[in-house]
Amino acid sequence: MSSPLDKFYKKSINERIQSLMSAGFIEHEHISNFKQSFSLPEGVSNHMVENVVGTYQLPLGLGMNFLINGKDYLVPMATEEPSVIAAASFGAKTVRAGGGFTTTQEKRWMIGQVILKNVEDSEAMKEKVLEHYDDLVERAHAAHPSIVKRGGGVKDIDVRIIESNPEEHTPEFFVVHLYVDTKEAMGANIVNTMAEAIKDALEIITGGNALMGILSNYATEALVTASFRLAPSLLSRSGLEGTEVRDRIVEASQIASVDPYRAVTHNKGIMNGVEAAVLATGNDTRATSAGIHAYASQSGQYRSLSKYYVDEHGYLVGTLTIPLAIGTVGGSISIHPGAQFTQHILGDPDAKTLAGIVCAVGLAQNFSALRALVTDGIQRGHMALQAKSLAMTAGAVGVEIDVISRKLRRSQPMNLTQAEALLEEYRN
Ligand code: NDP
Repeated sequence: MSSPLDKFYKKSINERIQSLMSAGFIEHEHISNFKQSFSLPEGVSNHMVENVVGTYQLPLGLGMNFLINGKDYLVPMATEEPSVIAAASFGAKTVRAGGGFTTTQEKRWMIGQVILKNVEDSEAMKEKVLEHYDDLVERAHAAHPSIVKRGGGVKDIDVRIIESNPEEHTPEFFVVHLYVDTKEAMGANIVNTMAEAIKDALEIITGGNALMGILSNYATEALVTASFRLAPSLLSRSGLEGTEVRDRIVEASQIASVDPYRAVTHNKGIMNGVEAAVLATGNDTRATSAGIHAYASQSGQYRSLSKYYVDEHGYLVGTLTIPLAIGTVGGSISIHPGAQFTQHILGDPDAKTLAGIVCAVGLAQNFSALRALVTDGIQRGHMALQAKSLAMTAGAVGVEIDVISRKLRRSQPMNLTQAEALLEEYRN
């Protein structure tokens, strides 16, 4: 059965907007001010950050074909890189044919750290801190009572003693962790407020000196996993049997697990999708990427974040687990009209659902890249968009972009000098 979204990539921007409405992803009242929905008024931008002189725009595209936990999604992706959205959509299309993505995020606790020094007899002080559990929770909650009313708040307290290291000339640190359920918010400000609010009490309890109270972006208590399972018949490509493509993808996953040089590029591909979706939904890209890359190094070596293996039925299984502290309210989400709009296109998901969607995009991106790498190579698929970029860099505008990029793809070498020569020839 045909859908208004069929051949979305071939439509003009206006046709795409119409088809989003026909498919029920946006309402009619959005059409008239569709483009304004994304623009950031000066009155808002000037209050978001400092020394504002303008706004810096990026294309916003939609990742297509995503079937996640049995539900269809069009995923907003903000990125400057050609091919990223096409690759995510292509990966998602194959995964859809195999039943779609499954995602899970068991809990979503943010971690606040209070770091103390000069704590004598730290093991005994650890016990003492835990004896004051109720008092510390009460102080933290008093600093941000609204999150408790929303059903969130402190869920646990823990102490980590980081031993002194004479080689590094570092003293012993006594680190108290507050685990906080921040509900729909990413929670940086909520957690920072709580961590700072218990600093004085911890100094009195431990006799030490508090150095700081702050959120940790290493969100190990907010892990999200996306996975899929595909029959080999869905994987055949470029004359290669599906089983061969499957096995090559598994080998590509193995090398990315053991070689950091490969792992970094493998994970960069995952982040192409993750960051584009995190940015488009108004979330903090630096917070998420710092945590994700640290997680890739949890074994002491930087490794691939995704894993691929063959299950007992010969199917390819792909999984991606990452820490993902993102929200659906707070920060810039509640004030940036574009972020509100993108959350709306996603069906206004809750924070857990949003984390699952973003993780699925990262896995789709990775799957698509690996499949291309171990079959045709990555450049073939990039050529068309690279030709467009070169045409635009050479100065092509409007219809010239398509004409010059088509000519460029048929000519050699495909570089800027050639694009400039073709443009000059076309204009004369
Ligand atoms: P906010 O400070 O905006 O706090 C969340 C807000 O959302 C609160 O005002 C809360 O209201 C409101 N809210 C409404 N509904 C809900 C709900 N259902 N659940 C939870 N909150 C709700 O944002 P965050 O604390 O999330 O902080 C995120 C921002 O902090 C980002 O912009 C990030 O870039 C920035 N940041 C990041 C740091 C880091 O990553 N290390 C450090 C410092 C800042 P109410 O108060 O009434 O409960």
